[in-house]
Parts: sequence; C-alpha cells; structure tokens
Amino acid sequence: TPTLKIENLHVEVEGTEIIKDFNLEIKGGEIHAIMGPNGTGKSTLASAIMGHPKYTVTQGKVLLDGENILDMDVDERAKAGLFLGMQYPSEISGVTNSDFLRSAINTKRGEGNEISLMKFIRKMDEKMEQLEMDPSFAQRYLNEGFSGGEKKRNEILQLLMLEPKFAILDEIDSGLDIDALKVVANGVNSMRNPEFGCLIITHYQRLLNYITPDQVHVIMQGRIVKSGGAELAERLENEGYDWIKEELGIEN
Ligand code: ADP
Ligand code: MG
Ligand code: MG
Repeated sequence: TPTLKIENLHVEVEGTEIIKDFNLEIKGGEIHAIMGPNGTGKSTLASAIMGHPKYTVTQGKVLLDGENILDMDVDERAKAGLFLGMQYPSEISGVTNSDFLRSAINTKRGEGNEISLMKFIRKMDEKMEQLEMDPSFAQRYLNEGFSGGEKKRNEILQLLMLEPKFAILDEIDSGLDIDALKVVANGVNSMRNPEFGCLIITHYQRLLNYITPDQVHVIMQGRIVKSGGAELAERLENEGYDWIKEELGIEN
C-alpha cells in the first residue's frame, strides 16, 4: 500500500515560521482529517506540499512511498501520484474542462501511453454523471464563471478522473449547500480503496458527517496538538476548540 509521510516539516511564509515540526503518516485506504481554528496553518501546510512558491520549507520531508516530493517540481509531484486540489489554476481562458483533464491524465500516463479518446469520454461521462454535473460542463472553459459550488464539484471531478495515490483537499466544503456537500462527499467516498489515501482539511465538522475519517488531527500554532478518531470531530462540533487550548495552556 502507498504511504505519505510528513516528517518534521517547518514552513515559513514571508519570513515567519507558520508550520513547526509537523508530523503525520497516512497509508493507502485511510482518510485523515485536519481541523483547526482559522489562521493556524492548515492552508499553509497544503500550499507547501503543493510547492507554492510563497511557502518556503525550511526543514523536513514529505515522503511519498519513501521519495521526498519536496525535491520534485510541481508537475513531478502530480506524476508521482499526489493530488492537490489547489494546484489547478482557478480559471484558464480558452482551455475547456475536457481538454484540461485529458492533458492532465496524459501527462501522468506519459508519452506513448495516452488514454484513447473513446475511453476518456466514457470515463468523463461516467464521473460527471456520478457527480450530478451537467454534461455541458465538459466543454466549458476551465472554472470560468463557475459558481463556488461548481468549482468544488469540478475539483472532485479532477480527483475521480486522475485517480491519484494521495489527495490533499483544502476546504472542499466551503460555500457548498447541503446537496452539493453530499455529492462531493460521495465522490470522495467512492475513491476509498487500499491504493488511495486522503487528507481532508476543514474548519467545520459538517463535511465529516458524510465522510467518516479514520483519524482526526487538530492543528494549532502550526503543529498537531491532538489526534483521535471520528468522535474527536464530533466533540469539536459540540464544544469548539477552547477545551483543547485550555488543556494546552494556549492563550487566544
Ligand atoms: P488556515 O488555513 O489554518 O486558516 P493559513 O495557513 O491560511 O491558516 O494561515 C496561517 C498564517 O499564515 C496566518 O497568520 C496567515 O496570515 C499567514 N499566511 C498564510 N499565507 C500567507 C501569505 N501568502 N502571505 C502572508 N501571510 C500568510
Ligand atoms: Mg485561513
Ligand atoms: Mg485555510
């Protein structure tokens, strides 16, 4: 089974250390959730793993099956099997959703091993139907004029089409109504298999009513301060984060 291991990660943004000694291991078949108050470094963690140039890794490793993806450029990270929702530009004028996905799949498969047009179309139709997306979305320019909810759904379409080993999904629930939330959750759940692991980053517990995580981690001040099972997310929903701050003696 594949393994994603984050080891002693430290990340700086504009000269300030935001992520401090972050450690986490996810195996194929597992879904982990990272929760935490606003501004505690959740998106910084995702952006650093994605290779966003504003986020500087000063220490540590992110090992995908033993290989440090921090040594790879962004395209290589995707090719190695990592999916990061935000790595895809929010809008690309003149490139249709369908063209974009086909080229992303073929980049991953490599030269000489391209997916046939027939197979691609069949897969795309199947996944769009699963996500209850209007067929016209295939020919729309990527994310152009998409609503917030449509963008999130499209992100899950990318996930289902690209079938990565690991996905890191940052706030895929934000701005979704309950029906869209269920569709997005079903999409993630349908990916569950021993060859796929997922890290879901979320501020709210709501999404975790539909995706049951194997482990929940709370991040504060740039590191994991508490881990538990799905019941931890429920407690956070009911009681907020203050009890953890008190336990740790964190002022806020
Ligand atoms: P979260 O996703 O948990 O809400 P973020 O990772 O977005 O938190 O932010 C953590 C801290 O890093 C915040 O203090 C935020 O202001 C700072 N930060 C994040 N990204 C940037 C950036 N691009 N430029 C300056 N500061 C940033
Ligand atoms: Mg934030
Ligand atoms: Mg964030």
